[in-house]
Amino acid sequence: MDPLDRLALDRTTGERAGVTRRDFIRVVTLAAASVGLSSTAAMRVVEAAAKGMKPSVIWLHFQECTGCTESLLRTSHPAIGNLILDLVSLDYHETLFAAAGHQAEDALHKAMAENEGKYVCVVEGAIPTKDGGIYCKIAGKTAQDMLTEVADKAGAIIAIGSCASFGGIPSADPNPTGATGAPMILEGKTVVTIPGCPANPYNFLGTVLQFVALGTLPELDEKGRPMFAYGRTIHEHCPRRAHFDAGRFAHQFGDEGHRQGYCLYKLGCKGPATHANCSTLHFGEVPGAWPIGMGHPCVGCTEQALAFRAPIHQTIDIERPTPPDTYPPIHADQGGVNPVVTGVGGLVVGAALGGAYMASKKLGGGADDKEE
Ligand code: SF4
Ligand code: SF4
Repeated sequence: MDPLDRLALDRTTGERAGVTRRDFIRVVTLAAASVGLSSTAAMRVVEAAAKGMKPSVIWLHFQECTGCTESLLRTSHPAIGNLILDLVSLDYHETLFAAAGHQAEDALHKAMAENEGKYVCVVEGAIPTKDGGIYCKIAGKTAQDMLTEVADKAGAIIAIGSCASFGGIPSADPNPTGATGAPMILEGKTVVTIPGCPANPYNFLGTVLQFVALGTLPELDEKGRPMFAYGRTIHEHCPRRAHFDAGRFAHQFGDEGHRQGYCLYKLGCKGPATHANCSTLHFGEVPGAWPIGMGHPCVGCTEQALAFRAPIHQTIDIERPTPPDTYPPIHADQGGVNPVVTGVGGLVVGAALGGAYMASKKLGGGADDKEE
């Protein structure tokens, strides 16, 4: 059997799972491209996974709804949850573990001892700090102590979701438990943050892939977010942007502007101040499955200053109200546009956005996306 075909087998029953070899290679290659890895590096990851060379992952759950794990597991076409489980050795995960109590604790400490300095510590959920951190305890330890102990010997630390990145919903006013994010507890350590409520699984996969392939982490912004995913605002690549630039707005849910798909700024959209790639990498592999795509304003869930703090329907200041020079103008005066400049700019922006959008579509598969 082709060693890669083993990846498509269910690990417990030994039967063929929902992930084909082709799906596996396709998603790994596309996710690798999103972080700037070559297809050769992506294939190295695939081959290493086929040989069983997988990094150990210890996944901690604290104050959260488990929505980030659920979002990862609920993907399909292909099942990215299975793909991630094929790429890494998930040695501790309270939601997915069959083990409990002492067995789970033993697995945690064994994985830490055997992979010291090399394992990936993934944190999901906020960490309570008030009253000595007593509001979240696992195996008699506070979340704060458990995180510090596991992160201390990790090779990489990833905070998945807004809760782990900066406190998220548990930290909303009046924040009765003093909830905060992993970077605030682990000051001085590099913590990759993948905020989002839930986080987009592909941003997580891209980060893990780079660590697996090269042993490095992606370029991060000042909040620890990978630049490949959080380098631009939603507003910069929103499909409703032309309506914003032309002054066409929805004023109420269900009004004519809303039905026409106009800009949602006046309904409180936080897209102009929210750094994320939701508009080009949709959720659950369903094209259009993201808040603005379904007619709801962006709530800014990847931004600590906005999510669960700024009222959902309150409008925000726009930092850059005019479109960048590289966008085609809404109403160009005849003869006022340099076709060379516009053409080159359009090509660059079009290639970047088109690539991301097509990646989203390809990741989603489709009726015409037949198996070999
Ligand atoms: S970030 Fe959102 S989806 Fe993820 S665990 Fe927190 S509340 Fe749930
Ligand atoms: S305000 Fe919101 S809906 Fe309007 S263009 Fe910007 S991101 Fe899109």
